[in-house]
Amino acid sequence: MAIEEINLKEAVLWEGADGKKVQCKLCAHRCEIGEGKVGQCCVRKNIDGVLYSLTYDKVCSANPDPIEKKPLFHFQPGSRSFSIATMGCNFRCEFCQNWQISQAAIESGRIDGEPITPEQIVEAAVRGGCKSIAYTYTEPTVFMELCNDCGRLAKERGLTNVFVSNGYMTREAIDFAGDWLNGINVDLKAFSNGYYRRMCKGRLQPVLDTISYIANETDIWLEITTLLVPGENDSSDELKKLAEFIVTKAGVDVPWHISRFHPQYKYLDSVPTSLGSLERAFEIGKAAGLHYVYLGNVPGAKFESTFCHNCGRMLIERIGYRIATNSIEDSKCPDCETEIAGFDL
Ligand code: SF4
Repeated sequence: MAIEEINLKEAVLWEGADGKKVQCKLCAHRCEIGEGKVGQCCVRKNIDGVLYSLTYDKVCSANPDPIEKKPLFHFQPGSRSFSIATMGCNFRCEFCQNWQISQAAIESGRIDGEPITPEQIVEAAVRGGCKSIAYTYTEPTVFMELCNDCGRLAKERGLTNVFVSNGYMTREAIDFAGDWLNGINVDLKAFSNGYYRRMCKGRLQPVLDTISYIANETDIWLEITTLLVPGENDSSDELKKLAEFIVTKAGVDVPWHISRFHPQYKYLDSVPTSLGSLERAFEIGKAAGLHYVYLGNVPGAKFESTFCHNCGRMLIERIGYRIATNSIEDSKCPDCETEIAGFDL
């Protein structure tokens, strides 16, 4: 794509490095980018010593979704979230479920999308009866400029903002979004650095740092998702360590979503996660002390619904992404008055 064809937006969170090099400070790669080159996400480019976003005016997905689809189960339950993405990602997961839009810029330099302005996005969300805007499907960190402009406008119009993220962002990026970001689902893909290196071309520690920081130093509502890939990240020992990390560094009230893997993209030789494996992970999460553990893509009230962790009453009954009943009153169980953690429950 010729540079003149791109409506460039100067990037946020970067600084000049040696010569005409720049350093991007959005994600933990902290790419140093030479003149005329792009960072590892392939959607941020150094032109004449200035870093630009190449995707600001290229929205590739825009749909109203149930907030449960993110998944966020303790955040404005039953509401719709206007969900947007642009192309690109800072990871290269071999099993990515959205690889057509997340990996195209990396594989072929292709960046497709429509020039939809932040005003139009927020207006569409309001008209569609959505309570929030979700930055999702690809990694929102790498399109932070659009998130920031939409997020601020959305806040002015009384909407909330949520990220669905791989958590590979810097602390500076979290602080930058802190004014308008209300909720986040972070993928904790495994509890092994080798897995992150091999499967995602990233590292585990920055993701752990993001989780601890958000849980302890911000007001952003946090949920965590782990995709269980057979034979890769599903040993009982690893899952126990992962669940114990959530308990000790994020807290027992952080919901943990364990989701079923289906062969995708470059990872086609595997099999879908067995129900037995998912149930074992569920029990490990509960045994570690987590109050809210959910299974994704496994229908059944026991795994999809929210129960009071004190008296066991079913509080939110989910059937897929649909809420059948919600009996939480003022964020409390109506029977035993135990506080149920969440945002706008
Ligand atoms: S967002 Fe991450 S991968 Fe992209 S240029 Fe910045 S530091 Fe590099």
